[in-house]
Amino acid sequence: MKSNQLFILMLLFLAFVNQGLAQTAPFPWPEGKKMALSLSFDDARASNTALGIPLLDEYGVKATFFVLPAAVQRDLEAWKKAVASGHEIGNHSISHPCSGNFIWARNRALEDYTLDRMQHELMQANEQLSELLGINPLVYAYPCGQTFVGKGVHTQSLVPLISEMFIAGRGWMDEAPADPYYVDLAQLTGMEMDGKSFNELLPLIESASKNGQWLVLAGHDTQDSGNQTTYLTMLRELSEYVNDPANGIWIAPIGTIAQYVKEKREAIADTVNIPELVRISPNGQLRLTAEKGRGIGPDIKYMPEWKAFGWFTAKDSIVWDVEVPSDGKYEVQMEWSVSDQESGKVFVLLSDHERISGVVEKSGSWETFKKESIGKIHLKKGYNRVVFKSGQEFEKGALLDLREITLEKIE
Ligand SMILES: [Zn+2]
Repeated sequence: MKSNQLFILMLLFLAFVNQGLAQTAPFPWPEGKKMALSLSFDDARASNTALGIPLLDEYGVKATFFVLPAAVQRDLEAWKKAVASGHEIGNHSISHPCSGNFIWARNRALEDYTLDRMQHELMQANEQLSELLGINPLVYAYPCGQTFVGKGVHTQSLVPLISEMFIAGRGWMDEAPADPYYVDLAQLTGMEMDGKSFNELLPLIESASKNGQWLVLAGHDTQDSGNQTTYLTMLRELSEYVNDPANGIWIAPIGTIAQYVKEKREAIADTVNIPELVRISPNGQLRLTAEKGRGIGPDIKYMPEWKAFGWFTAKDSIVWDVEVPSDGKYEVQMEWSVSDQESGKVFVLLSDHERISGVVEKSGSWETFKKESIGKIHLKKGYNRVVFKSGQEFEKGALLDLREITLEKIE
């Protein structure tokens, strides 16, 4: 790339990042949609098959119903019809265990559950739903939105189990839509739509649309009034709103969108900067990629086209949070590029207790990346903070483009 081309690219990039905090483009929803929306209803209430599903079917809107097998049995033919018309059936446990602070749940309190019992019951629920409806649930909704079993020192999280058994696990009474780049699909936020008018929900939809998010609405009964009820008038107005292409909403069941998010994230993982904890990779390396680093400073930029961070001032740095599997010395490799004119500046790599310093050697050009050992560093077991920055002041120019720091244990 010629320097004037690079300059134009930098300007474009500056204009782009100045639009918001995030250094990432809006999430690539299908067909250029602005946001995703899922409607979900819990407990297989009788009003769902009687009123809610016929209304949604009128508009061709597909929703997710988190059901208990026993409740499905009471109205089996209607639930079979719901499946046939394209609605998703999710697992909502066998007996709806919740905290024993709900008196009705005291005989099946999560505080008195174990992970083993929960796993057994969730498998039972899956099997029964498969027998009743001929489907295999891909998604789960935590009863009462609660994600634990046990109490006190015996408390354990249900999230790893749900993560293994399902593509997504939805919460309840959450306060924000899901960020498709970031969200843990096993802890998908579910926002309440019960008791709300369309006008009350509209600001939430507009904000999710502005931020390219995935809004998952959660409710129970579907009728004109009552407790824990999603109002039919709201559902009608909402269905009309989402069916207007001008609003750019992708509405689909949770499992459909979760699958899309998962695949898309894997496909674009090496071209978006989403700072996250670095854990050891399957081949035993700690890969401190530009995608996982947090750029700090006045002018540091993640450049997706180069899969690298670009440095423009001496005050810029990148920080990585790293979970180190064992105490010891690690060999450090650096992958970078730099033009011959800008090469030769001093860089520093800092861990909590040690530092490596070196000179940015020539790589050939900004377009040619090179990977070389830059020394050894001691890291302690557990959490470490690793920082890369300039080791000298400079007024003009650039330090380097940094693609990756790779750490490999040597002793
Ligand atoms: Zn429920």
